[in-house]
Amino acid sequence: MYKNIPNPVLVRRRLLRWYDQNGRELPWRYKKGQIPDPYYVWLSEIMLAQTTVKVVKGYFDKFLNRWPTIEKLANAELDEVLHAWQGLGYYARARNLHKTAKIIVGEMGGHFPDTELALRKLPGIGDYTAAAIATIVFNKVVTPVDANIERVTSRLFAFGDMLPKGKMQIRKFASVLTPNARPGDFAQALMDLGSGVCNPKKPDCKNCPLKLDCLAFMNGNPNHYPVKSVKPVRNVRRGMVFWVIRKDGRVMMRLRSKTGLLGGMAEFPSTDWREKDWTFGEAIKKSPISGSWRQLDGMIRHTFSHFHLELRVLAADLKMENNFKDANKFLWVLPSQFPNYALPSIMKKVAHHVANETIR
Ligand code: SF4
Repeated sequence: MYKNIPNPVLVRRRLLRWYDQNGRELPWRYKKGQIPDPYYVWLSEIMLAQTTVKVVKGYFDKFLNRWPTIEKLANAELDEVLHAWQGLGYYARARNLHKTAKIIVGEMGGHFPDTELALRKLPGIGDYTAAAIATIVFNKVVTPVDANIERVTSRLFAFGDMLPKGKMQIRKFASVLTPNARPGDFAQALMDLGSGVCNPKKPDCKNCPLKLDCLAFMNGNPNHYPVKSVKPVRNVRRGMVFWVIRKDGRVMMRLRSKTGLLGGMAEFPSTDWREKDWTFGEAIKKSPISGSWRQLDGMIRHTFSHFHLELRVLAADLKMENNFKDANKFLWVLPSQFPNYALPSIMKKVAHHVANETIR
C-alpha cells in the first residue's frame, strides 16, 4: 500500500498544464487574458448547486439575455425571477439570488466584496460559493471544495475516513495543494478533472494527468473513495389538493408565504403535508370552500431534498360567485395562463394530473 502523500508542486504543475489544454469552455468562464466577471461566476455557481452544467447552460443564457447585469437583476420583480428559475428547483436559491443582487446594487455600489469572509455574509452564499468566487474572480488563495474536488482529493490522498465527518480533513488536503499563483485556475482545473476524468463510477485513470501522484490509483482502488456514510431514509408526507374550478373555467390558486419551502411561489390550495394519510372527511374540513367534492383517481408523487410527497386531488365546481369567506386570498387563473405563474414542479404535476384524470 502506497502511503506517501502527493507532492503539491508536481500536482499543481501537471494539473495546470492539463487545464491549459483541456479545460472546459463554459459560457460563464473567462478566457485566457480576460478579466472574470463576478456576476457571471456568482450566477453560475448558484445555479450549479444541485444540478449539472448541461442543465445550467440554458438557464444561464436565459438569465443573461433577460438581466445582462446585476443592476437589471436587482430591479426585477421577485416573481419574474422565480418564474425564470422554474425547473431548477430549490427556489430559496432564486429568492436569495434576488436579495443578494439588491444588496450589492443598493449597498455596495454594484461591486461584489472580494474576500471569502465578506462574500459569505451575503444571502445564499455558503462556504463553497464564497471560496469559489473569491478564488476564481479575485484570485484569492482559498480552496472551494465541491463534490468533484472532494472526490479527486480523497482519491489523490487515498483518504479513508467516512464523509461527511471527514470533510474538514479533505478541505485541509485540498488547501495543501492550492498554489499561490493561479489558484482560481487550479480550482477550476480540479472541477474539470472531477467532472470529465475522475468520474464517480469509472475514473479514466489511464488518461489522468495526476496518475503518477494518485495514491488510490497506485493502490488499485479509486472507486473505494470517497467513503460515504449511508444516506438517511427520506420520510413520506401526504396531502390533499383542492382543485376548485369556476364556471368561467378559472382555477383557484394562491401564493405561498414568502419564506420556507417553495416560498413566494403559486400553488393550488391543499391541506397540510403530513406523515399520516388524510381521510376524505378530514380533508374536506380543511377545504377553502364548502362544495360537492369528489376525489380524483390516482396520486401525484414528488421528491424534495428531505422528503417524498404524495398528493391526491379533491375537485369541486364553484357554483356561487366569489363572495365566500376569504375569497380575496385567492387568484383565479385560466389553465392556459398557468405558464405565466411561478408554479413549482409539484404543482405542474397536479395540473397535468387533473387534465388527464388518469391513474398514475
Ligand atoms: Fe482520479 Fe484516477 Fe486521476 Fe486518481 S488517477 S485522480 S483516481 S482519475
